[in-house]
Amino acid sequence: MQKENILDWSMEDLERLMEEWSESKFRSKQIIEWLYLKKAGAFALMTNLSKDLRAKLEARFVLRSLKIQDSRESKDGSVKFLFGLNDGNAVEGVYMPDENRRALCVSTQVGCKFHCAFCLTGKMGFIRNLSPAEILEQVLAVQEWLGPEKTLTNLVLMGMGEPLDNYDNVMKALRIFNSPAGFKFGGRKITLSTVGLLPALERFQKEDLKINLAISLNAVDDAARSRIMPANKKYPLKDLLKFCREYPLQPGRRITFEYVLVPGVNDTDEDAEKLSRLLRGIKCKVNLIPLNAGEGVPFSSMPQDRVDRFHKILVNSNISVFTRKSRGGDILAACGQLGGGWAA
Ligand code: SAH
Repeated sequence: MQKENILDWSMEDLERLMEEWSESKFRSKQIIEWLYLKKAGAFALMTNLSKDLRAKLEARFVLRSLKIQDSRESKDGSVKFLFGLNDGNAVEGVYMPDENRRALCVSTQVGCKFHCAFCLTGKMGFIRNLSPAEILEQVLAVQEWLGPEKTLTNLVLMGMGEPLDNYDNVMKALRIFNSPAGFKFGGRKITLSTVGLLPALERFQKEDLKINLAISLNAVDDAARSRIMPANKKYPLKDLLKFCREYPLQPGRRITFEYVLVPGVNDTDEDAEKLSRLLRGIKCKVNLIPLNAGEGVPFSSMPQDRVDRFHKILVNSNISVFTRKSRGGDILAACGQLGGGWAA
């Protein structure tokens, strides 16, 4: 029988197992600490567990199922990783260092079902969901690659896939990312980005996870949004914005609206003005993302002066806005460029 990956098990799952094995429930927390806080890569290292328990764990579980298969470093310091999975599939992640921030962009699925017209992952189609372990191990692998001096500070679920379309596995991973016994990333340091799957968003808002929510808005009317994001046909703008307006935010927090500027689709002055009207009354900030062009993406990139102009109109309408600096364009690691691009 193939061994299970212990990283797929939550603290509660492990508590039940400890009870079954007549061990104290407290062992579960110790195991989680070994796995994520201390990042132990072998059961033998877990020295505050009895030899007998370590042997039982060893017989039942593995604790790694993903490997860094390749990495490419950009001129700007960001690094794209290719993570090889046990079944021969692979996903990508991007490390983005700044002065005080070291962020990792994490994948949640192999491929994606949602076919956004500007995104390369969408072109791959959907292959499969990642397991909780495969999501968590991207962070373990990159942290190990970086070494103890450079601790990751932020996680963004903005890599390959749609996080809310792999709901249970993503929630399981998020609990460990956020747990004091696990990775200890504070809720403000974790951002989940979604195309706006309303039923999953309704579920998500009831979770006790206080992480940041980013919505890929990308257009101000249904015609334009459906053209570039087919998911809009099922979950139209009006319903999505109503959800956002009513979303129970923690004090001092805001929703992020990502807006990929696509030339000729959503980039006019009127679009900027309409965007500021639509967002009125929502505690939010806008993250403008100039389109990253790619092979197979049927749009050209946005001229900088048009980006600045769009940005300024929002500022003048009192919308909090920042334009996302494109990272890793030279290694095809920028937004929407994940999904290929490893051939020498
Ligand atoms: N499925 C999730 C997370 C992955 S995409 C989502 O859609 O939010 C992360 C962000 O990258 C999204 O805001 C998406 O709109 C943006 N993006 C995708 N392709 C892009 C491209 N070619 N140029 C710029 N941004 C892109």
